[in-house]
Amino acid sequence: MADSLIELDDQTFDQQHIWHPYTSMTHPLPTFKVKRAQGAIIELDDGRQLIDGMSSWWCAIHGYNHPELNQAVTDQLQNMSHIMFGGFTHDPAIQLGKLLLKITPPSLDKIFFSDSGSVAVEVALKMAVQFWHAQGKVQKTNFVTPRSGYHGDTWNAMSVCDPVTGMHQIFGSSLPNRIFVPAPQVGFNEEWNQADIAELEKTLVEQHKSIAGLILEPIVQGAGGMRFYHPEYLRQAKLLCEKYNILLIFDEIATGFGRTGKLFAWEWAGVEPDIMCIGKGLTGGYMTLSAALTTKKVAETISQGEAGVFMHGPTFMANPLACAVAVKSTELLISQDWQANIQRIQQQLFIHLQPLAQLEYVKDVRVLGAIGVVELSFNVDMKPLQQEFVRRGIWIRPFGKLVYVMPPYIISEQELTTLLEQLAEVVKNIQNIQEQSA
Ligand SMILES: *Cc1c(COP(=O)(O)O)cnc(C)c1O
Repeated sequence: MADSLIELDDQTFDQQHIWHPYTSMTHPLPTFKVKRAQGAIIELDDGRQLIDGMSSWWCAIHGYNHPELNQAVTDQLQNMSHIMFGGFTHDPAIQLGKLLLKITPPSLDKIFFSDSGSVAVEVALKMAVQFWHAQGKVQKTNFVTPRSGYHGDTWNAMSVCDPVTGMHQIFGSSLPNRIFVPAPQVGFNEEWNQADIAELEKTLVEQHKSIAGLILEPIVQGAGGMRFYHPEYLRQAKLLCEKYNILLIFDEIATGFGRTGKLFAWEWAGVEPDIMCIGKGLTGGYMTLSAALTTKKVAETISQGEAGVFMHGPTFMANPLACAVAVKSTELLISQDWQANIQRIQQQLFIHLQPLAQLEYVKDVRVLGAIGVVELSFNVDMKPLQQEFVRRGIWIRPFGKLVYVMPPYIISEQELTTLLEQLAEVVKNIQNIQEQSA
């Protein structure tokens, strides 16, 4: 067995034995082997070079192989790569904590570091339940969330994802039953309509006694459909949460660190949450790290509860390597005129993508900050499309009806132009590409 495995060529071994995100093990989609990546360029094993349009799923905001980020990891490595966080603390965690409290909503005061976005969401949900339990409100254990959301793949994170795209029917009663309200309908630039919040209000009026928190992604619903909605939705949601004693949880795992044109998306509405989750861009894409931040009030209430402590403590909590690179990545971001840079990317995205709206099968084109989305009227066929993108020297990974880009912020004007020109060519020829492969 072992010998025959070793003899398989790498691609076959990968196909037969290694699971990739959301793929079949019997009909796996092709994968491309990467040798290295530098700046906004991904180099494949066979030497082909691809311009990166994905930032490795929102993460690699400064591009790849960044000298200063490399140095931060190397320096920390000389001291220690990891140390348990129970009973110990260290400079990288303290420095990162100080930095994060400076740039996140002023009312957030306590930080819980954990290992991935999904775990930060789990932590946030547990905080909300413990907060109410500590006050004797033991029925307040459920959560309300808008449809089309995405909050991660672990059990409770999954329970608050959109029930259709999250395929809740497969997991049946093994998944906690959450309360869903319609996704916000009024677009980011449209005129606000109070009807957009009506269903949330009705739900809170009727069910607030059982609800611990409202969780949502502020302004941009990411993996649940790349939808941009009106800031007033957040202001209204905040008022309702205050009125009906519901904690407001912002999942800024995708929207954080400048992606929408603000450092964090809550700033578009000026609404502060009770708990906020961050991750993805936090380490500039170097390592997995996340955090759930909360207010003094929530933290102190939890600490006065029956358990006397917050019941969570991951093994790799506040991993020093990850914290050290997060400090450097965040300093790098805020020490530059990052807003002007995002503005540059936004303008270029708009100029190149907007004309695609004229195609009869393009339903919508939308751009916000360094996010550009082309929504089609049909589902894309990932396999031929991905191959065509690679053939044209760009890395874009569409899903469902969406062809979208969120490039690293260091992408040059020329690289971005090429990326978008090639993307546009593929979208214009998409029917041919898909027919030829069918
Ligand atoms: C990616 C994502 C998560 C999950 O993060 P992981 O690191 O993949 O666990 C949660 N919420 C949002 C909004 C995300 O985009």
